[in-house]
This record gives sequence, structure tokens and C-alpha cells, in this order.
Amino acid sequence: MKNIAQNAPLLPYNTFHMDVKAAVFAEYENVDELREILNDPAVAALMQAEKAKGRLPFWHIGSGSNLLFTGDYPGVVLHCKSTGIRVVPTEGTESSDEGEDEGVCLLEVEAGTVWDDVCAYCVENGLYGPENLSLIPGETGAAAVQNIGAYGVEISNLVEKVICWDVEADKEHIFDGTEMGYGYRESRLKHEADKARYVVIRVVLRVQRKPRLHLEYEGIQKALGINLEADPEAVEKLSLQEVRNAVIRIREGKLPDPKDVGNAGSFFKNPVVENAVFDKLQTQYPNMPHYVVDKGHTKIPAGWMIEQCGWKGKSLGRAGVYEKQSLVLVNRGGAEPQEIVRLCRTIIEDVEKKFGIRIEPEVNLIG
Ligand SMILES: Cc1cc2nc3c(=O)[nH]c(=O)nc-3n(C[C@H](O)[C@H](O)[C@H](O)COP(=O)(O)OP(=O)(O)OC[C@H]3O[C@@H](n4cnc5c(N)ncnc54)[C@H](O)[C@@H]3O)c2cc1C
Repeated sequence: MKNIAQNAPLLPYNTFHMDVKAAVFAEYENVDELREILNDPAVAALMQAEKAKGRLPFWHIGSGSNLLFTGDYPGVVLHCKSTGIRVVPTEGTESSDEGEDEGVCLLEVEAGTVWDDVCAYCVENGLYGPENLSLIPGETGAAAVQNIGAYGVEISNLVEKVICWDVEADKEHIFDGTEMGYGYRESRLKHEADKARYVVIRVVLRVQRKPRLHLEYEGIQKALGINLEADPEAVEKLSLQEVRNAVIRIREGKLPDPKDVGNAGSFFKNPVVENAVFDKLQTQYPNMPHYVVDKGHTKIPAGWMIEQCGWKGKSLGRAGVYEKQSLVLVNRGGAEPQEIVRLCRTIIEDVEKKFGIRIEPEVNLIG
């Protein structure tokens, strides 16, 4: 059933534990209810007023694990409560025994489905693809917007279609995975023009029935107790469940659980710089970790730069930098949004002063 609330607390809807309110908070279970909400006179008037101020007409949230409300939100916050996973009957894919599509399974997932439930479902049903993305917090609609990624896999590798509600045209609109503008933590639905218009209602994922594991990331091999260089056949003895368990162990060992410590995962993106910039920095910092992105670009871990600036484990007021991973900002308890914002700005300035690189938040700042 739909629910429209005014002056509604957002505390249960953000993993940073920010005690802020939304002028309007509305939840729906299906498209009919979403349309009723959008046509509600009070909601429509507020959306119009926000738009007139040059702001987004609404903010659609998932479970709030990658956002920071910087204060009370004066507009409309939407949330989808619809959950479920369905195998899409396919002709000529599952049944075909030759070619690229052999063993492909398409899953249609409701936007409000907890992402890790999708990972667990796939592992239980022998479906390969999402296992490395196990335990990433959040909902499936958001995962497709964010292009979540971990341990060498991004959801964009799996997205067949993103089924949206086009709020302007009042009809369904389907984006092919190839139309989503995917990049590192990037998609078209993160940008204003599309964000103001489309709500993700379902995501179709392309997963595999045939074993196809991604174990290139050294940390996973270590957690699994294998070394593929020395023993390439070790991969054949591994089950999907073992890979999922290894990913979960790694994550639980290094990331704070939002239930205990308010946080939104990696607060900053890892900057990608031109090789000339990296080469110059490397002469100054020979141990600087880095990853080749393409022929002309290198990615530098923002967490390493933050650590070099002396921020690891430190605090500014009630906002802090997590002890085990400098990319993660935490709420030490009762922090106001502006304390997190102040820490974020200070870190950006310090990193820029030391390395000449301006890092950017990955987290959505919403005010
Ligand atoms: C401890 C921790 C670890 C994390 N680890 C990782 C990681 O390894 N890799 C990674 O990529 N991320 C990671 N994250 C970040 C986060 O889990 C992801 O970004 C996730 O996809 C956010 O999901 P959510 O449902 O909480 O979305 P929210 O944070 O609520 O929203 C995220 C974005 O999606 C949009 N959105 C949400 N639902 C919809 C919808 N139905 N239609 C249109 N737009 C929508 C929002 O407007 C917003 O722009 C981590 C976060 C935490 C707290």
C-alpha cells in the first residue's frame, strides 16, 4: 500500500544515521501507486515548486547507503517497496546448446529488492555473475543506477535492461544495458536530466548457468586459500558458495557494518589521472599504489592519499575516518550532517594541497 507522509523522519532511510526530515516522504509498491503519488495535489505542487527553484522535482532513494542528507530535505523523497526475483522465460538462449547465449539466464528483479538477496538467490540456484558483488548494501534499482562494483566485477557486466517509469511522459521506458552510459560508479541515471525524469522499477540481469568465476583479484584468491598462477586448476574445485563466503569474509573484515557505525561505504571516488600526472607524482612518491585504466590513464587509490595526509582513524568533531579503510567516513555517534560535510571538504583540500589532485565524493550529497 502506498504511504505519503509529511515532515517525515529519514533516520531509518540512511546508513549514515542522519537524523533529518523530508518535507514529503512517499513509498509505493507498484507503478499504479507511484502514479497516484505523483498525481497527489500536494506532492505535485511541491515537485513543481522545487523544479521552479532549479532543483530536482524529487529524490528517489533506495536504502540510503550511498547518500548523505546535508540537512532537512525540503522536497519530495520517493522510495520503492516492491521486491521479487523472477526468471524470464527465454527462447533460444537457455535451450540453445551452442553459441554465445548458451547457458544464459535472465532474471527480472524488482527495484526494491535487497541487492544481496539477489546474490544469495543466484548462488543458491547455481547462477554465476553477481557473486563477487555479495554483501554490497542497498537495493537493486540503486545498484543499476550506481553501477556498483567490487573485486573485478561491476553490475554493468550483468545488466541486460533497466525498466524505468518515465515520470514526464507517464509511461514505461526501457534502457538497454548498452544505453545506460556505464562507467566507473557512473550511469546516465546519476545525472540531472535523467534523474529528474526516470524511476527504476525493475532490472533485468543476465547471469550464467555455466561456471564462470572472476578470481583475478588477489584478495579473493588469498581468502580462498588458492593461487591461480601456481595452480590454475584450483578454480575448478570451487563452488559459488565458497566464493560468496570469501567475499563476505573480506568485506566484514575491512568495512564497518552500517548497523553499528554510520557510514556510506567509500566516500570518495578513486581519481583517474593522465599518465603524465601520475608519472610526475610517482617520482615524488615511488610507493604510490596505482592501477592502469587504459593506455593514457592511471587510477590512484584515494584512500592511500587520505592516509598519507594523516587522516586514517582521525576525527573532526563527531565525524571520522574509519580506522581500517581511509576511504570510508564514519559517524562517530550523533554527528550532524554538516560535521560530515566539513570533514569531507577538509580532506579534499588536504589531498589537493599534498598531491595536486582534487578528489570527488562518490556519495550523493543531498540538501
Ligand atoms: C558499508 C558499505 C559498503 C559499500 N560497498 C560498496 C562496494 O563495494 N561497491 C559499491 O559500488 N558500492 C558500495 N557501497 C555503496 C552502496 O552500497 C551502493 O552505492 C548501493 O548501490 C546504494 O544502494 P541504496 O539502495 O542504498 O541506494 P541509495 O544510496 O539510497 O541511492 C543511491 C542512488 O541511486 C538512486 N536510486 C535509488 N533507487 C532508485 C530507483 N528506484 N530509481 C532511480 N534512482 C534510484 C538514488 O537517487 C541515488 O542517486 C557501500 C556502502 C556501504 C554503506
